[in-house]
Amino acid sequence: MIAGAPPAPPYEAAVRAATPVLVPPVPAAVGRAPLCAKRGCVMQPSDVTSASRSHYFCDRCSGRSAAQHLGGSTRRWTCVRCDYDICFKCHPEPGATGA
Ligand SMILES: [Zn+2]
Ligand SMILES: [Zn+2]
Repeated sequence: MIAGAPPAPPYEAAVRAATPVLVPPVPAAVGRAPLCAKRGCVMQPSDVTSASRSHYFCDRCSGRSAAQHLGGSTRRWTCVRCDYDICFKCHPEPGATGA
C-alpha cells in the first residue's frame, strides 16, 4: 500500500471554510465606549483618531474644550464618521473606572 496525500475535503466543506466570517471591526474599548447618537457607531477615544488635537464640542452637555471644559483637554470620545463628540464627564474614559 502506498499512502498518498490525505483526501481533499469535500467541495462544499472547502467552500464553506473559504467563506469569510463577518466579524465587525470592534475596537478594544468596546463595552465601555459610548455609541454615537447619529448612527449608533461605537465611538473611539480621541487619542486613536486624527481629531485628538482639535477642540471638541460635547454633543451631550455642550461643553467646549476651547472654553476650558474639563481643564481644556481635547481628549474625549469621538465618532470621526459622524463628527460627533462626547466628553469624559458625560461618559467616563476607558480605564478610568479601574477595570
Ligand atoms: Zn459632556
Ligand atoms: Zn457615528
